[in-house]
Amino acid sequence: MERGITRRGLLSTTVLAGAGAIAAASAARSARALSLQPMDAQSRSLYLAACSSRDGAYHRELVAEARKELAGRASDAQIEAAIVRMTCPICGCPITTF
Ligand SMILES: [Zn+2]
Repeated sequence: MERGITRRGLLSTTVLAGAGAIAAASAARSARALSLQPMDAQSRSLYLAACSSRDGAYHRELVAEARKELAGRASDAQIEAAIVRMTCPICGCPITTF
């Protein structure tokens, strides 16, 4: 009786350890897939000044750039549709978020 419980206890501990090892391994794999880079001063100031603030000057700039880039190459509706689908390279939000 006591042996059975011990064996079951050992088994569940082993299963948990195995699950933990798998979780740790996949965490390590996804950590390797990411590359962290320090923000340079320009990115940092853009991030803080534009993307994390409510006025969204950088997003407006991106919208203006996209309009200029696409002008004459697509209809107004197509340009607007493209702009709506674009996301900010810094914060990942739609560039129409001001
Ligand atoms: Zn942004």
